[in-house]
Amino acid sequence: MEIEDILLKTAETSPTEEEALLLLKAIHAYNQALKIFEAASEVRDREIGRFFKLDGEIAPITPCKIDPFCRYCTFSRQSLITEEVIEGLHLAEQTGITEIRLSGGTDLSSNGSEIVELVNQVKNLTGLRLNVNAGPSYSKENLQVLKKLGVGEVGSSLETINPEVFKRTKPGDSLERRMETTRVINDVSLNLQSIIMVGLGSTDEDYINHLFFLKKLSNLTHLPISRFNPFKGTPMESHRRASPWEAARVCALARLVLRTPDIRIAAGGGPDDIPLWLLAGGNRITSVFIHQKKCEPDRFSCENPTHIKRDLLKNLEVVDRSALCRYFAEEVGFKVIP
Ligand code: SF4
Repeated sequence: MEIEDILLKTAETSPTEEEALLLLKAIHAYNQALKIFEAASEVRDREIGRFFKLDGEIAPITPCKIDPFCRYCTFSRQSLITEEVIEGLHLAEQTGITEIRLSGGTDLSSNGSEIVELVNQVKNLTGLRLNVNAGPSYSKENLQVLKKLGVGEVGSSLETINPEVFKRTKPGDSLERRMETTRVINDVSLNLQSIIMVGLGSTDEDYINHLFFLKKLSNLTHLPISRFNPFKGTPMESHRRASPWEAARVCALARLVLRTPDIRIAAGGGPDDIPLWLLAGGNRITSVFIHQKKCEPDRFSCENPTHIKRDLLKNLEVVDRSALCRYFAEEVGFKVIP
């Protein structure tokens, strides 16, 4: 089948796995890429509108107990205390965003009760929509409680669906637990967030397998795509940085296959990725970060961000890049929310 024929079909409905793989491979050629990006953008505009969304993150709400750490990660064994999370929510409200993700590390032995307790303590203290993203750490009962508490979205991320790549890069983590958690989140009718990381070693076939695994989860509302970034001091510090093109290729196919979820520029990407992201059918970025101070000291080093303030509390770092993100998206002709 010709690329043009597949694209005619994708205007109305998702491609098959075989067609999706053909498209993903075709984007290696620049001229084909432009047509495929255009089709993905048209699907976005028609299905969810021509908007670019900003959100925020507070982290870490739980320490990461994975041992050993994932080989690319600089996360912390420490976490914020509840008072710091509450202060973070107040600071986030002042930036004008309306949605915040409480992110944390992974404890494979947890049932998520500490996250339920935290949400219970903070939910009436903020007008922000609360989302949570912290490892495959929930019993079904606790997910049902999170739903009752009004949590907007719960995350469980595979990063890669290739078991060998997963084992090589996340030796202390469990792909099976993560896949199972995505299914349970979906089954209790919570909105699901799940991350794909490009550049870990996944192949085009892996990306398509991963997208079609996610396609079965009808409550998937948010797909962040992170771009591998080698941090000094991690075992993968010499591994090559993932290209923005690889992230944009996966973004375009995600839009054509999944249709309606938000597709976000995630870790390893930044405001400079916005124009390409919008061309490829994406629609979201995190513009406000409230993190434990020095949790990830190099994370924003190449972005020249506007720090609205540092050391607001002894333990909190606030990075607000909303104005920059807004400007970059508006310049491409997009309305920015909020
Ligand atoms: S990537 Fe996630 S699970 Fe892995 S070490 Fe970092 S915080 Fe923990």
